[in-house]
Amino acid sequence: MTKSAATMKSGVVDEAAEEPPSLTAIVNEDEEPPSIAGTARKNRFFNHTSGELWNDWKWHFRNRITSIDELVNFIPLSSIEQERLKLVTATYPISITPYYLSLINPEDPHDPIRKQSIPSFDEIALAGMGFEDPLAEERDSVLPGLVHRYPDRALMVLTDLCPMFCRHCTRKREWRHGGWVRTPGEIEAMLRYIRKNKAIKDVIISGGDPLTLSTHRLEQVISKIRQIEHVDIIRIGTRCPVVLPQRIDDELCAMLSKYGPIWLNTHFNNPNEITPESAKACDQLLRSGIPVNNQSVLLRGINDSVETQLKLCKGLLKIKVRPYYLFQCDEVQGTEHLRTSVETGVKIIEGMRGHTSGLAVPTFVIDLPEGGGKVPIQPNYILTQTEDDLVLRNYQGRFFWYRNPKAIGSSGNGRKNDKRVQETVPVEAFPVAEPVMT
Ligand code: SF4
Repeated sequence: MTKSAATMKSGVVDEAAEEPPSLTAIVNEDEEPPSIAGTARKNRFFNHTSGELWNDWKWHFRNRITSIDELVNFIPLSSIEQERLKLVTATYPISITPYYLSLINPEDPHDPIRKQSIPSFDEIALAGMGFEDPLAEERDSVLPGLVHRYPDRALMVLTDLCPMFCRHCTRKREWRHGGWVRTPGEIEAMLRYIRKNKAIKDVIISGGDPLTLSTHRLEQVISKIRQIEHVDIIRIGTRCPVVLPQRIDDELCAMLSKYGPIWLNTHFNNPNEITPESAKACDQLLRSGIPVNNQSVLLRGINDSVETQLKLCKGLLKIKVRPYYLFQCDEVQGTEHLRTSVETGVKIIEGMRGHTSGLAVPTFVIDLPEGGGKVPIQPNYILTQTEDDLVLRNYQGRFFWYRNPKAIGSSGNGRKNDKRVQETVPVEAFPVAEPVMT
């Protein structure tokens, strides 16, 4: 039996429990067992918390679960598990918002929300594998908090605070520093650098999660970026629509809508994260003129099947979020147990392409070590290729000849015969390459 948060944290308790606004027209919870409807989900752990508090992002932030001793009030853990997880959190801390906790089925040790938020002993048992900073972000920092790797883009890391510590995070090395926010002086130095570098057209504000900052503080930064003439677009990287959707409130949306074009990238990994609350957050952003794209990470036991990815990506389209990237999980220390083979990702894309709308198929990418950049990986559909012809394989495994056009005026490669589809070509006739990088 779990104990309600209300009994743990007096002063935040309000007896008048209300249902938060729901978007049941968009997400029909009845269709999605074993997830349960919003009120029941909230009340499972937080039955004494009012709807007003439940809708207040600051309440969720203040009441994050940050220790194993707190966690055990909600999720059954044996005493051995508790001791082991305390060893893990000494290296990699825990932080879970009440909202995200409410998505966990406490009876299921393989729950995909649980795996993303509750530590695993493997984080330290396999810590010898991987790197602290596999993408060499620190090497490419030109100033504290400013990464300038590509000429036309700059990344501003404003804080290392996050509402939830995702167990697969690429920047989990930062968690140990205890939560910092860039000072006004540091932010001004970053802005000066961007003003001087006219090649920078795209500024990405990230973290940590930048939406942990107050709206007022964010506006101080965003308004100054918008005044820089050569900056075309601003991008915000945040997981708030998924782990703290209450953060996407009227005040934030009204502020962001003044400084467009702003694009927002978020991070749904599993269909159980698509709830009325997260749908409402994305809808509010879209209505404020902010396109929302999704960057998910391929994770073992969380979304590493065609079925789960199809459900996730179709669900995202229903809430008008574009599945943009599916990342191979970076080679980060403390995440090896969640990493899958590259072939798993290729097979997933193969199982999606042609079987659903292209809009629902993300680009599978590896972010190369040492700052090598993102490389798209996809199934190989070109079986053989000459200057004149290609033989292509479609999603059903059928083979097609395709004439390769040449520039007008060069000696032609006109169609040689009428037989364009050949279904009887033996597979052995073609060297089917391993997944290619394009
Ligand atoms: S929200 Fe992003 S930066 Fe924060 S812990 Fe999760 S993955 Fe890492």
